[in-house]
Amino acid sequence: MQDFKSYTLDRRPARGQLVKRLVLSVIFLLILAAGFLFLISNPTEESQPVNSPDSDTESQPEQQRKLILPLSLPGQPQESRQTPPPVKQNSKGFISQAVAAEPAESSETVKAAEMIPAPDEVAQPTATEEARKTVYKIRSGDSMASIFKKNKLSPSLLHQIVNSSKTAKQLTDIRPGETLHLAFDADDKLLSLRLEHSKVDSLEILATAEGFSATEKSRAVETRNTHLSGVIENSLYVSAKKSGLSDQLIMQLADIFGWDIDFALEIRSGDRFTVIFEEDYLDGEKLRDGPILAAEFINQGNTYQALRYVDDTGRADYYTPEGRSMRKAFLRAPVDFRRISSRFTKERYHPVLGKKRPHRGVDYAAKTGTPIRASGDGKVIFRGKKGGYGKTIIIQHGQTYTTLYAHLSRYNKKARKGKRVKQGQVIGYVGKTGLATGPHLHYEFRVNGVHRNPLTVKLPAAKPIAKKYRDDFMIKIQPLISKLDLISRTLVADAQ
Ligand SMILES: [Zn+2]
Repeated sequence: MQDFKSYTLDRRPARGQLVKRLVLSVIFLLILAAGFLFLISNPTEESQPVNSPDSDTESQPEQQRKLILPLSLPGQPQESRQTPPPVKQNSKGFISQAVAAEPAESSETVKAAEMIPAPDEVAQPTATEEARKTVYKIRSGDSMASIFKKNKLSPSLLHQIVNSSKTAKQLTDIRPGETLHLAFDADDKLLSLRLEHSKVDSLEILATAEGFSATEKSRAVETRNTHLSGVIENSLYVSAKKSGLSDQLIMQLADIFGWDIDFALEIRSGDRFTVIFEEDYLDGEKLRDGPILAAEFINQGNTYQALRYVDDTGRADYYTPEGRSMRKAFLRAPVDFRRISSRFTKERYHPVLGKKRPHRGVDYAAKTGTPIRASGDGKVIFRGKKGGYGKTIIIQHGQTYTTLYAHLSRYNKKARKGKRVKQGQVIGYVGKTGLATGPHLHYEFRVNGVHRNPLTVKLPAAKPIAKKYRDDFMIKIQPLISKLDLISRTLVADAQ
């Protein structure tokens, strides 16, 4: 990128009169051509500002860049960039600095900077002009110290920056995937440093006369509501994907309804779903999916609706239109539905014992090593080998319920006897210890010591919406329910 410096210098007019005139006319033509290019295209990516152009010659570097770019750097990636930089409220007098720093940005960072309206970069003369810029993608194992070393910056400078303010201290906590921008002046002095945590959030540190100023910046994200519906052909995943739901939304959907519907085994072709969800946009471009706001699932003719409610402590949860929690005190299955290959409940001929015997639990076939989760909050009251069960864990949940997990290949070391476990916490791994022909989890559910079929037992629900939020909940969910109903009716009408 430094090459064109010499190019600019070479463009000095020659001594001979004729040559001079020729060169001048060539320059004139080039300026015309550049101006034309400028008019027909968006402003292209700016090159590095040439060595310290002074503030009184603002337009000149402009021209030089326009000239140089199309001519001397044809191979250079020149992604057109709508606009330069996200300079919103900058602290104190650093606006000009940041603005001037932007045009030299490397193409790697185009996405972060592209959507902001162009600030009037010419109008802001700066004292110290940026001459060089480095963009660094942070990888695992990197530290700020190692990056500083690579860039020939002293450890004491890093120390000085990090200790300049509480905000600047964040610099010690870099993560893989983040991007670091370093800007230097012509004397290789560090002018600014920007750590981009994400497309939205960044930390900017600018060298000032007094030391360093650090600012956290967050770009405004616009949220839009949208919805998608689909009819299931055979698998939830495939059909939901086909209808346009992202993996993340599919998992959210499965989490919301997974308490009522067994997505591995109870899905039927013709089941339908509708999802109303948020999408986050950054300057008109989709950034990511937000949370599901409301969803409906029709499984074998039964309609389930779920509505998201955020209470004033910021805690979000899903409820039925009546305000009952979608969650239960117990997971329907202690193994992730995507990893279950089959399940058995009925009385059957025991392949190992060679005789018929009642089966008092559910067997979930899954690969050895598949994590097993505690189906509810509770306390481990047994962990060890237990005859035909092999390696077994029993959890006590309150006074009434116990759950048993058998044939484990190994235990999770946190699920020791006497320890409290949380719902969903991994307590062990699928195996085939004891009397088992293949790897599977044998799961039992007992109510007051009596075996119940975990697949059909009525599971106690988690707490309903708190009384103090109930009125607010009822008001807020109305538009969502109306919308769900409307979409549902349209779907049915379309299908007929
Ligand atoms: Zn079994």
